[in-house]
Amino acid sequence: MRASALITGSSRGIGRAAALALAREGWPVCINYLESREAAEDLVLRLRSEGHMAIAVQADVACRAAVEAMVQRAAEALGPVELLVNNAGISRQGLFQDTDDALWNRMLAVNLTGARNAVQAVLPHMLEAKRGAIINISSIWGLRGGSCEVAYACTKAALIGLTRSLALELAPSGIRVNCVAPGCIETDMVRVLGEETRRMLVEETPLGRLGTPEDVAQAVVFFASERASFFTGQVLTADGGFIV
Ligand code: NAP
Repeated sequence: MRASALITGSSRGIGRAAALALAREGWPVCINYLESREAAEDLVLRLRSEGHMAIAVQADVACRAAVEAMVQRAAEALGPVELLVNNAGISRQGLFQDTDDALWNRMLAVNLTGARNAVQAVLPHMLEAKRGAIINISSIWGLRGGSCEVAYACTKAALIGLTRSLALELAPSGIRVNCVAPGCIETDMVRVLGEETRRMLVEETPLGRLGTPEDVAQAVVFFASERASFFTGQVLTADGGFIV
C-alpha cells in the first residue's frame, strides 16, 4: 500500500487547496475537519470523482487521543502517513491585555499543541519507513510580529522554532521538516476582518493582491515532493512580497 498524506484543517481555505493539490500529485489524502463536515465530505466526493483516494475524519487537533485515532484511521484506509501538513489554525484580533486564559490557551492548544499532537502521532510511521515530510503552516505574523494578534503571532513563531528544531532532530531518520509562512490569503480567516482591512492588506502587499489558497498550496506541494529532497528546516514565505 502506498503512503498517505494527512492535512489538518483541510475542509476549507488553505488546507483544502493543499489537499486538492497533493491528491492531484498522487497522494491518498486524509481530510481533517473540526466542524465543517459537509465541506469535508464534499471535498472527498470531488477527489474520488477525479480518481483519487480520500477520506474525511473529524478530529480536534488539540486533542491528542482524537489525533491518534485519526492517524490510525488514515493508515488503515490509505496507508501509513508519510506526509503531514500541520495547517489547522485559528486566529483572533484583539488587544493583548484583553487576551484571557481561555483564548490564550485555546490558541496554543490548536495552533501549536495541535501540530505537536499530529507530529507525535505520525512519527512511528515515518520512523519505520525512514522517510517522511512534515510541513508546518506558520504565518508572516510569526516572522514579523503582529499587533492585536499577539497570541496568534506567538504560536506562529513557535511553529518556526518547531520546524527548525525538528528538522535537526529528524534529519538522521530521513524525515524533512519545512515551513510555509503565508501572507494575506483570501480565505474565511481574512474575510471576517471586513472589506476595509482587506483593502488595506491588498495595498500593503507589493504584488497588489491577496494570495489565493492555491498560491500557498504550490509551496506545500514543492516541500512534499522529491524536488525538495535537499530542503529541511526552511521557511518559505508565500506573501506577494509583504515582508521583503
Ligand atoms: P480557515 O479558512 O479559517 O480554515 C481553517 C481550517 O482549520 C478549517 O478547515 C477548520 O475546520 C480547521 N480547524 C480549525 N480549528 C481546528 C481544530 N481545532 N481541529 C481541526 N481543524 C481545525 O483558515 P485558513 O486561512 O485556510 O488558514 C489555514 C492555516 O493557514 C492556519 O494555520 C492559518 O493560521 C494559516 N495562515 C492563514 C493566513 C491567511 O491569510 N488566511 C495567513 C497566514 C497563515 P472547520 O472548517 O471544520 O472548522
